[in-house]
Amino acid sequence: MSDRIRTRFAPSPTGSMHVGNAHTALFNWLYARKYGGDVVLRIEDTDELRSTREALDVIYGGLSWLGIDWDEGPDRGGPYGPYVQSERLDIYQKHVDELLAAGKAYRCYCTPDEVEQRREIMRARGLPPRYDGKCESLTEHQCEQMVTEGRTPCIRLRMKRTGNTVIHDRIQGEVVYGNDLCGDPVIMKVSGFPTYHFAVVVDDAEMGITDVIRGDGHLPNTQIHLQLQEALGLPHPRYAHLPMILGEDRTKLSKRHGAVSIMEYQELGYLPEAMVNILALLGWSPGDEREVLSREEILEAFSLEGCSKAASVFDIKKAEWLNGEYMKQLAPEDLARRVHPRLVEAGLMEAEPTPERWEWLAGVVDLMKERAKLLSTYVQWAAYFFTDEYDYEDRAREKWLSKEETPATLEALADAFEALGAWDAVSIEGTVRELAETLGVGAGKVIHPCRAAVTGTTVGPSLFHLLELIPREDVVARLRRTAELSRAGQLAPRDAE
Ligand code: GLU
Repeated sequence: MSDRIRTRFAPSPTGSMHVGNAHTALFNWLYARKYGGDVVLRIEDTDELRSTREALDVIYGGLSWLGIDWDEGPDRGGPYGPYVQSERLDIYQKHVDELLAAGKAYRCYCTPDEVEQRREIMRARGLPPRYDGKCESLTEHQCEQMVTEGRTPCIRLRMKRTGNTVIHDRIQGEVVYGNDLCGDPVIMKVSGFPTYHFAVVVDDAEMGITDVIRGDGHLPNTQIHLQLQEALGLPHPRYAHLPMILGEDRTKLSKRHGAVSIMEYQELGYLPEAMVNILALLGWSPGDEREVLSREEILEAFSLEGCSKAASVFDIKKAEWLNGEYMKQLAPEDLARRVHPRLVEAGLMEAEPTPERWEWLAGVVDLMKERAKLLSTYVQWAAYFFTDEYDYEDRAREKWLSKEETPATLEALADAFEALGAWDAVSIEGTVRELAETLGVGAGKVIHPCRAAVTGTTVGPSLFHLLELIPREDVVARLRRTAELSRAGQLAPRDAE
């Protein structure tokens, strides 16, 4: 095995990239990049007859979004290609022929139904339902007879029957599997396609992979992989099986827990750098208290020794918090650039803002960033910056907009704003406080109805700074419109209607 570290990410093109796949990809990438090695992207499509272009694009898209790059792969080529398993059938065939010639594999003519029936019987007798070895010692003559019966064989590996297979896993420690429990696995199907076990072992060796880092769902498969390597006279790569990712109820992360495909997180409004941080902290810790870590800090602190064997829980609240922390750290111009496409899509903003509008948008997102946890928050919570057509929430109606004195307060405020020379937070605040004094009420009695009228809600960032970002004539028009609706009794809480 070469000294240079070579890892691989080997997804099956299923048409979506699960959080678990992204997690595995990231850990392979971190490990290779940390130690100056290579990342190979290999497409494992032996279950499908062909991998579709769309399924590949999903994989490329997910990895690119996360900023995970690779050195060799179907799109970039490399010295060990092709990197799509369905294009490597002759390579697998060559190795199968070797095993058959050496008697380390054999032809099996049992149909899947026959195998299953016999398994049923074994289960009923309380025996491990492994392949019972019916075809393991067929003679040439018997094989020919099977063919005359119209049967086409698959190929099975002759596994050891006694002793143990010991896996020295860099995360899970020493894992021991008894050889008496494992039947002879199929390594090549009737169709001439290799099975996952065979293709993975051949390719890891052919591609010079030094380190196999993957989910611990594959740990039991490693028993077969180690024995296949021995049968083929191939080196064992180092293994590291990452702990399983669970939902908050501690069952395997699945659709029931919410978003499971990595691109759903993009849609929900996560930043890719936050997602990398969130994924990195699943089953790994930097060894200190830090939780918000940049990609560079993660790389710096990363090691397989820092990975835990215990399953990790995907905590969505913590994920949102982390994303919010990342949004706070971004420069307002950068944050504006990231929020903008969502605003365009929601019809709240023009596709090509002028420099002044970009600057304005930077002000808006900056003002909101203490409260926003996701990029989508801006569309959901801050529509009033972009349109006059916002909803008056029930709480705003109940607490302020249905109160008898509110229309007069709003109108008085509209008059005062119109008379104001400047339009900035300081002058706005001065006007509001002055009006409160004139009316003989506390400032809150003007501030809250004003917020309810201009934004339709009772919560939000500093009112004076918020108003500054909305053109004065719009603010005045909103105050007058709301006063009118309120006076006409149209802003009663809807619950009460
Ligand atoms: N293609 C396998 C999967 O998607 C990965 C195999 C491996 O890492 O050994 O689960």
